[in-house]
Amino acid sequence: MFLNLWTNKSTQTYLDKIEKVKEILSDCDAIVIGAGAGLSAAAGFEYSGQRFDTYFADFKQKYKIEDMYSGGFYPFESLEEYWAYWSRYIWINRYMDATEDVYETLLSLVKDKDYFVLTTNVDHCFQKAGFDKKRLFYTQGDYGLFQCMTPCHNETYENKDLILEMVSKQKDMKIPTELIPKCPHCGKPMTMNLRCDNTFVEDEGWHKASQRFLDFIRTRKI
Ligand SMILES: [Zn+2]
Repeated sequence: MFLNLWTNKSTQTYLDKIEKVKEILSDCDAIVIGAGAGLSAAAGFEYSGQRFDTYFADFKQKYKIEDMYSGGFYPFESLEEYWAYWSRYIWINRYMDATEDVYETLLSLVKDKDYFVLTTNVDHCFQKAGFDKKRLFYTQGDYGLFQCMTPCHNETYENKDLILEMVSKQKDMKIPTELIPKCPHCGKPMTMNLRCDNTFVEDEGWHKASQRFLDFIRTRKI
């Protein structure tokens, strides 16, 4: 009974908040959406628990890694093993579709509005749901892009075909050596275009998106 009352109260609080958001959305001229990891978790991209066990049971057993995110920082013994881990990680979080339609629902609320999205998410969910690319600034990179690890130049490279090949050809937690991605300029290994230190490449697309965001803020009374 107590639990029931609490649940009802809690649900009502959320419903009240949703109503409030609907009211604000219908009333405003411009919207800036700030989105982080919680939105993708709500869409089904959980980095631990059952989903982690399904795809990374072997890494969990060998290295005692408990979730995808922390495994991304593990100092693997070889690049073959590193890419076996990361290709699975990128494939399921960047190229597989979300199980819940959270992003689509958000789009349905703002698609006829003057909106802009600023996000730290690197999983491409906004683009896949149909958000206008020119109204997106994904500040921290994209799982779908490689860059030189140094970096020796400021370009990024789409990785879908190679990631798929790594996933499908890996054996015993290792990819074939010839699939290790190398920089076309200096020959050093490539890495993901993710902001984790000062080697992050802000490529032409990043700078264009940054400028669009600044223009949006400047030209609306926010
Ligand atoms: Zn290079």
